Amino acid sequence: MIKFDLHTHTTYSDGGLLPEELLLRAVEKGVDYLAITDHDTLDGVLAAVDHLSTRSSSQDLLPVCLIPGIELSTTWCNKDIHVLGLDLSLHSLTLNQLIEEQKKKREIRARLMADKLEKALLKPIFDEVVALAAGAPITRSHFAKWLINNGYASDYGKVFQKYLSKGKTGYVAPQWCSLADAIQAIQAAGGVAVLAHPLGYALSPKWVRRLVVDFKNAGGDGLEVSNCQLSPADRQKLANYAKEYQLLASVGSDFHHPMPWIELGRNLWLPDDLMPIWCRFEFVEKL
Ligand code: AMP
Ligand code: MN
Ligand code: MN
Ligand code: MN
Repeated sequence: MIKFDLHTHTTYSDGGLLPEELLLRAVEKGVDYLAITDHDTLDGVLAAVDHLSTRSSSQDLLPVCLIPGIELSTTWCNKDIHVLGLDLSLHSLTLNQLIEEQKKKREIRARLMADKLEKALLKPIFDEVVALAAGAPITRSHFAKWLINNGYASDYGKVFQKYLSKGKTGYVAPQWCSLADAIQAIQAAGGVAVLAHPLGYALSPKWVRRLVVDFKNAGGDGLEVSNCQLSPADRQKLANYAKEYQLLASVGSDFHHPMPWIELGRNLWLPDDLMPIWCRFEFVEKL
């Protein structure tokens, strides 16, 4: 059985492993096809490609196929919605322009978030968060890490609840690109666009359906149906949406850091009768 994991992060966004460490872990876990999908950047993929190119001799080659990917942040009905781009070219002008715009938006938001938190906590924060991000686009996870390191909360869940979610001290509403902009840029780069974790936005069933419909109407290709923590009932729910709206099915761990309950390639089965997204990957021969 060929194993795919099509949603993962590295230190080039808010993940904990370097691209080469992630590739090695994927091999350890028996993943055959790994997509690196950092938030609003292709830099982790570029670093992974560089790393793989240094492994030139046959004993050195890693038995894993890297799929270039990205996770774009979009704003839909005032909500943050994530769109994965998979199997895309790294050199598309349209996609790289969108990435540049998102990067500027992240920089502006990070400055505003730091201002709010600095006023509330009476401490300089910005430079230390920039250092924690180490050149990666600054995400709320980097603020979360700073707040935990400095004793303001004990874990990621609590720190988001207390400081970083809508309405809290450190929250600044982002204005990311639209769903359609993200989908078009991904497709302009030859990739397929997948709606990430459709049940992960705390939306009522009515709103999930609205989101799926708008995603489909905007030209989206697939839904992320399988994630290691999703129950069989939730997978079936997503499978039903995929069938009803003729969307392809994707699978991904959304791995950020090694932790007991999320692992590369683990428990990513798909319900029956779905067309997998990899049928659209150019290089995957008939499996
Ligand atoms: P941003 O794109 O900067 O708004 O940051 C969003 C990132 O923060 C997501 O990709 C997650 O990795 C992380 N995140 C969001 N909500 C939570 C949460 N409740 N607990 C832990 N991490 C979260
Ligand atoms: Mn993240
Ligand atoms: Mn996401
Ligand atoms: Mn993700």
